[in-house]
This record gives sequence, structure tokens and C-alpha cells, in this order.
Amino acid sequence: MTNIPKDHPRYESLIAREKVAAGVKMGITSIQGLISQGRGESFDYLIGERSTESALHAERAAVAAILLAKNPVLSVNGNVAALAPEKIVSLADITGAKIEVNLFHRTDTRVHLIIEHLKANGAFEVLGKNPDASIELSHDRRLVRSEGIYSADVVLVPLEDGDRCEKLVEMGKTVITIDLNPLSRTSRTATISIVDNLTRALENMAKFAWEMKRERKEELVKLITTYDNKSALSEAISEIQEHLKTLVAEIDY
Ligand code: ATP
Repeated sequence: MTNIPKDHPRYESLIAREKVAAGVKMGITSIQGLISQGRGESFDYLIGERSTESALHAERAAVAAILLAKNPVLSVNGNVAALAPEKIVSLADITGAKIEVNLFHRTDTRVHLIIEHLKANGAFEVLGKNPDASIELSHDRRLVRSEGIYSADVVLVPLEDGDRCEKLVEMGKTVITIDLNPLSRTSRTATISIVDNLTRALENMAKFAWEMKRERKEELVKLITTYDNKSALSEAISEIQEHLKTLVAEIDY
């Protein structure tokens, strides 16, 4: 990776870019993943590269859903594996969720490399090889494991495409997404849409999971039943508007 000086004003974003590029070189991320990262970065700029109040609210509700689930699964694609392998593993460890690799640009080699990469980052078991069940989709994201995504009651699908998200919701699952674009089909379809950067979101969720594990079940249920995704998304869009107004006010002519 290129050496990025820590005092560079865009340090975090440049490091993320390097990680996705390294993922492509390692064969775990598809070349198209670079475009997804770029799209995410532009929304992060508009958001102000911070976890907003609405994002923190969605993250708490998401953690409550994962902690209350019978069979929670964290779905991992090539970008997630490149950007935050240790963070996914840590969230799975704290919550007891399973990890499953699920790819749009699927090859057996890529699935194998991602599983090995997650194991090198501390994962004990990672599902994804030898898929034995199928979701009604016309592309390779349909291929899943019966004890994983197929039978999961709660699925975390970070950096998702809209049609799989829609299908998983149709199957009756609680679908949690992490997507910086509050206007994407994914964000508009999911049960709980976290409009935040993957890295920040997973860090926050791990911290919340530690705290919330000790909370009473009723408190967790309350967090979910009082959560409204439409309001959360409209709050996320208002936060972008407010941030842009602040930037306009700061422009020095
Ligand atoms: P949809 O079908 O839901 O409209 P899309 O076609 O935009 O989605 P992709 O191109 O697969 O889907 O991109 C995935 C989404 O992930 C994009 O909306 C992008 O903003 C978001 N994204 C990319 N990188 C990150 C990141 N690091 N953190 C959070 N979100 C990200």
C-alpha cells in the first residue's frame, strides 16, 4: 500500500481507497468494487464524514435486532472483506452471529480467498462455499447456505444491491443495510438502513453490542418497535441538507 501520511486531511478516505485497491490486487474484491467505493465516498462527503444522529439511532436498533435474533447472519462481499475484515469478525464474536460470503461477481476462488482472509483476521467459521440453497434471483447472489442466509431471521447486508435486499425482505427477514446513499434502492427497501460509512458503522455497532448485551430484553424490543425506517431515512436526508447549508455559509468569497 502507498504510504499515506497520518496528518493528511483526507487520511481515512485515502486509506479506505488503498484497502479496496489492495483487495482487487489480492483477488478478493471485484474491479467494480472500486466504483462502489467511489460512489460511497461522494455521499460521505455530503454527510460530512461523521456518524450522524440518525445513523447512530439505526445502528442501535440494528444491534438490538441482531442480539434478539435466533439465527443472525452477517453477509460479506469483496468490499467489506477488503475494508473491515476484523470489524466484521469482532461484531460476529460479540453478537454470536454467523458470517457468510455472498458475491455478485462470484467465483469459487474469490469465495475461498475471502474466507481465508476473514480467518486470517480471526474468524472461526465462515459460510459461503458449496451453496445448497437458492434465493429467487437471476444472478449469483442467489447462491446461499441453508443454515446461513437462507434460514436467517436477521441479516446484515452491508454495501448491498437493491434487488437482493428486496428479495430478503420479501422472504420475511429483518434486513439491515449499511449504505452511505440514503436514496439507493437498498436503503429504501431495507428494514433498518444505516446511512453511515461501513468502517464507522461496524465500529459503533461493536461498541453498542458490548453495552446492549447486558440490557433487559424488553429494552431491546422497545428499540426495535419504536424504530421507523422511513423517518430515519428522511432524518438522514435532512442532516445532509443541514450540513450543506453550513458549508455554503462557510464559503469565503
Ligand atoms: P441500489 O441497487 O441499492 O440502488 P447500487 O446500484 O448503488 O445500489 P452498488 O453499486 O452495488 O449498488 O453500491 C453499493 C452501495 O454501497 C452504494 O450505494 C454506495 O453508496 C455504498 N457504499 C460504497 N462504499 C461504502 C462504504 N465504504 N460505506 C458505506 N456505504 C458504501
